[in-house]
Amino acid sequence: MQFKEFNFHPRVAAGISAAGYVAPTPIQDQAIPPVMAGRDVMGLAQTGTGKTAAFTLPILHRLEQGERSVVRALIIAPTRELAEQINNAVTVLGKQTRLRSITVYGGVNVNPQIAKLKRGVEIVVACPGRLLDHINQGTIDLSRLEILVLDEADQMFDMGFFPDIKRILGKLPQQRQTLLFSATMPEEIRGLAREILSDPVTIQVGNTAPPVTVTHAIYPVEQHLKTPLLLELLNHTDTESVLIFTRTKHRAKRLGEQLEKAGYQAASLQGNLSQNRRQAALDGFRDGTFQILVATDIAARGIDVSQVSHVINYDITDTPEAYVHRIGRTGRAAKSGDAFTMVTSEDGAMVRTIEKKLGTQLERRIVEGFDYTVPAPKKDQEFARPPRQPQPRKIKPEAKPASQVNSSNKSGGHKPDSRERNPSALPAGPSKRQVRRASSGHR
Ligand code: AMP
Repeated sequence: MQFKEFNFHPRVAAGISAAGYVAPTPIQDQAIPPVMAGRDVMGLAQTGTGKTAAFTLPILHRLEQGERSVVRALIIAPTRELAEQINNAVTVLGKQTRLRSITVYGGVNVNPQIAKLKRGVEIVVACPGRLLDHINQGTIDLSRLEILVLDEADQMFDMGFFPDIKRILGKLPQQRQTLLFSATMPEEIRGLAREILSDPVTIQVGNTAPPVTVTHAIYPVEQHLKTPLLLELLNHTDTESVLIFTRTKHRAKRLGEQLEKAGYQAASLQGNLSQNRRQAALDGFRDGTFQILVATDIAARGIDVSQVSHVINYDITDTPEAYVHRIGRTGRAAKSGDAFTMVTSEDGAMVRTIEKKLGTQLERRIVEGFDYTVPAPKKDQEFARPPRQPQPRKIKPEAKPASQVNSSNKSGGHKPDSRERNPSALPAGPSKRQVRRASSGHR
């Protein structure tokens, strides 16, 4: 299909040329006609599929005709980065239309937002919390809204935005077109779709399967050896740009600092950063100033980084869907990419769940020459997983000698579990002999 077959307004068509788009992506092919026809749409698509333009182009086309200086389209997104990205797309694609759009999110001064709203805009790209503030303060008028887009709905649910979303929905005109986009379709999103979409057209692209261009591998390792192993991997692997995921903000920050100390151009992206620093980290990663970006799932969601050569899961994800989402950041647009995941003995069950979802076994890799036998230092407990809740003792054992108690503490509170005793289960990390025997490298 060609863009010209959609019969966009010439000023919108000019934006498509200016953006350098030659042919529509599959989601654009499928979504643009029903959106232009005014239908509600449920779109199942990940970032990177071209979904932003799939809703932006028909919105620009529709808004080109009709009233100006009133808010006619509202796009709600979970993160500030995604809101900025969408707004950039609106600005580039809609340059000739002279339609005005703004971003509305928290963590920045509210006054410029109020001033722009007063001057008049047609498109608002917002995060839920600040948008609700504006609604409650009466600083935004949504009474003339024609189109609502909820982007990355599953992420908004994960981030706890649904109560805000419900409140916002209660303040919008009933008569409107609604588009709902989500990378996954948990029950909560189905419920929301049933509630807010009227006779929707459902579109699914790329499924939730990962790009075929990605090579997956897992690296069994003890928790305390993750950073040394990561450094070893980075040292011996040809990487262009690396996106590393950690489980918490604290771990992202600390790992970013450790990588910097090790001489890498690295930045971390986590919720505690000021808006300016987040933007600087993102811009730096995009333009190559930073070769490595360390981020949590929430901080990284929606980031469009088409050049990522490696995704490294420093911590495994909590769900197979999140795994697919993370590694969707690499291997885009027929480029190949690698997805490495570090796993400890506690991650066996999740690895099996991910393998089931992918329908294939992930290759286990051992890094030759890396010493997997180094014991955990005591101070590493800060970076280790939170200690498990003490279990009530069933049988009173014989008193242990003090030396044994200390040595178990030294291993970071890690107790061998059944998986470690079961030879068919995922190893916590190879023994020295296994390392020596391993013939394949990790390049
Ligand atoms: P998105 O999934 O909306 O985040 O888009 C991912 C990337 O694809 C963005 O950099 C877009 O500019 C780009 N893109 C969107 N549509 C097209 C298209 N039809 N041709 C080429 N690139 C596109």
